[in-house]
Amino acid sequence: MSSDTIAAIATPPGSGGGIGIIRVSGPEAVAMVSALFSRRAKCPDLPVCDHLYDSDEAAQLLKSAAKNKQPDLQHALPQLSPSFCFESHRAVHGYIFNPETLMIIDEVIVLPMLAPRSYTAEDVVEIQAHCGHVVLQAILNLLFSMGVRPAEPGEFTKRAFLNGRIDLSQAEAVMDIINARSVKALKIAVSQGLGHLREEIAAARNLLVSLLTQIEAAIDFPDEAGELIPEDASALVGKTIDTCVSAIEKYENAGFLREGIKLAICGPPNVGKSSIMNRLLEKECSIVTEIPGTTRDLIEDHLNINGIPFVISDTAGMHTTDDPVEKIGIEKARKNIRESDIVLFVHEAGTSFSIEDINGIIPSDKKIIIVCNKKDNEPLQGDLLLDNEDFKGSSLPVVATSALYNRGIDNLRKKIVDVALGGMELSSSVVPNTRHMHSLKSALESLEYAHRSLCSGFFDEETLAIDIRNGIDALGEITGDSAGVDILEQIFSRFCIGK
Ligand code: GDP
Ligand code: ZN
Repeated sequence: MSSDTIAAIATPPGSGGGIGIIRVSGPEAVAMVSALFSRRAKCPDLPVCDHLYDSDEAAQLLKSAAKNKQPDLQHALPQLSPSFCFESHRAVHGYIFNPETLMIIDEVIVLPMLAPRSYTAEDVVEIQAHCGHVVLQAILNLLFSMGVRPAEPGEFTKRAFLNGRIDLSQAEAVMDIINARSVKALKIAVSQGLGHLREEIAAARNLLVSLLTQIEAAIDFPDEAGELIPEDASALVGKTIDTCVSAIEKYENAGFLREGIKLAICGPPNVGKSSIMNRLLEKECSIVTEIPGTTRDLIEDHLNINGIPFVISDTAGMHTTDDPVEKIGIEKARKNIRESDIVLFVHEAGTSFSIEDINGIIPSDKKIIIVCNKKDNEPLQGDLLLDNEDFKGSSLPVVATSALYNRGIDNLRKKIVDVALGGMELSSSVVPNTRHMHSLKSALESLEYAHRSLCSGFFDEETLAIDIRNGIDALGEITGDSAGVDILEQIFSRFCIGK
């Protein structure tokens, strides 16, 4: 358990909404908040709690307790005034006041969650105040003046981990929730928070621990433990390899959900690339002009369609030019296209283009959507129709738009999502984060060594034990378990050696 008490504003800054939450966690959370809290504001000008109102002596006691942090008096607070006796998980309405001036700072709801039934597994008190930086900061400053320490980023979660309430992968999932830019990324983070990833990895790790136990026992105590059967061992290692491989695959498939799918807009100059970008973003970000070659530099922004994050970029028009500045822009555009996941190839309705035009610009491994822009003269209702002329001989998806009149843009959004997901099922996925990924890869490497030597039939148990142990350690980095203790315990409990 931590010895100090920390506090921070738990709601994001500028989040709108009417309520801001301050979270206080640690051994003195209740005492500290109690010293600032009153159930009633009897007199508007002298807004103090019942007890302080009735007794100057008690007021002095409380004030000096708050000021000097005298532990005896702090613990005496609940006795001094019954209204200060917080009940766990029961919200109380009241007022936060400055114990120096006795001025009310805000009307609040206080929600105490006593250890261990709290987020950090310590005593936690949440103060729900009126949202507004000044009010929240004033309450925080009062807490700080009493000796509460400002929480470091992620410190509540770190405490939850240190206090054993959540494991490492859950702690990281919480960080991902805080950072999640989109609903879908959030869903994945949440399912991981429920412990799915840990379960899978922990199960694989347990298998390895039991195997290592067997190997080490076979080395040190051959008579009691008997010999290792390579077929069984290699089957077991194979199973854990499968777990690692599938977790890594999930990561690779869904990595885009954290970083954003890269979507590049390209095509000849003046076809409406920048206009389309602005329509998708629903704001003016890219410069639209009648002068071809305006977008020379790369313009990037974040775009969210149906909860899926994209990083969208507008590039210089592709054409042959002698202008050195434009040339640089075009080179940048090519690089950008190479680094993208999806490319929108924009062309102007009524003008011809060939599949060779596209192939000259876009590498064949990219997902391509052809956007036929400047379809202004279609009936005003419904989807825009395409002339066969517009996409002759191509099996690529085509969407007709009029960026000028903001039409066909929703269709384009739908098409982008279709192409991005490519039928992938996201809901049940469990996605490891970057650190998990490194641990998984290092586990996989060791386990593959072990597997190969087991399958070959020529292995020495010492080396095998090292590989398996490396695998266990790497997986333990995800679940937060350390290998040494487990294995010793198991050796002694299973083989009753040395009793
Ligand atoms: P970019 O060079 O490909 O980025 O093209 P811009 O977005 O800068 O647009 C070039 C010109 O085409 C501007 O004058 C736009 O107003 C115009 N434009 C863009 N989209 C449309 C459209 O759908 N219909 C018509 N008629 N003009 C458009
Ligand atoms: Zn442009």
